[in-house]
Amino acid sequence: MSQFSTSAILIRRTDFGDYDLIVSLFSQAQGKISVIAKSAKKSARRFAGVLELFSELDAVVSAGRGLPVLQEASLKNPFAQIRAVPSRLAYASYWAELIQDWVEEHAAHAELYRLLQHVLSELDRGCVPAGVLSIVFQMRFLRLSGHSPNLEHCVGCRCEMPAIRPDVLGVDVAKGGIACPACAPACDHAQHLSKGTVKQLLWVAGGDLRRAARIKFSPQAIAESLAFLERFVPYHLGRQPRSLKVLRQLRGDER
Ligand SMILES: [Zn+2]
Repeated sequence: MSQFSTSAILIRRTDFGDYDLIVSLFSQAQGKISVIAKSAKKSARRFAGVLELFSELDAVVSAGRGLPVLQEASLKNPFAQIRAVPSRLAYASYWAELIQDWVEEHAAHAELYRLLQHVLSELDRGCVPAGVLSIVFQMRFLRLSGHSPNLEHCVGCRCEMPAIRPDVLGVDVAKGGIACPACAPACDHAQHLSKGTVKQLLWVAGGDLRRAARIKFSPQAIAESLAFLERFVPYHLGRQPRSLKVLRQLRGDER
């Protein structure tokens, strides 16, 4: 049996029988792992107040036959203000679902770990609008998973973005990016991005993470970006995240 220590963010918890919990951890050492927390439900003292959604933990895990076992866990960052505000909880649930469903188990992913840790920490502090954090998370998640949208030129005729005449660009989600008026699909006329928004999206996709989350988005740029990314991400990852429905209901989107 081997044992290892790691920082980890708790991204899902599920009851397992009467006594135990199964928790999904996104860990620094081994990426996404499912572990069993024995007696976490039965005993009030075992893991008391530690195994909460989106907390960052210092965890000790032992692996042998069967499911790895969570031996010890202590709170590193409780991020309690995320769970106290329904809209914050909804955004965090969406990000966690993307990681839960599209990241392979047992593969360390340092940059994605830092990204999740950073957006959760900012979400907890509440200084940056949650929508902006979600833009930063999704743009960087797409880049890290090899699905970056093409925002540099039209996906049809490949003319470059600055050369496209109107300031409002069409979008072709299926083809993976922006489209000029001649190439934009007719059914997607409601979907658009202004050039200013496109530049901001490109800006937050790379570079310094702390600065990316501080970029000022106008309310219109936030709305456009979220409408675009929340269609683009499910389309290219191949499934509709359940948490997105809750998020849209809370935000009061007309959909
Ligand atoms: Zn075109």
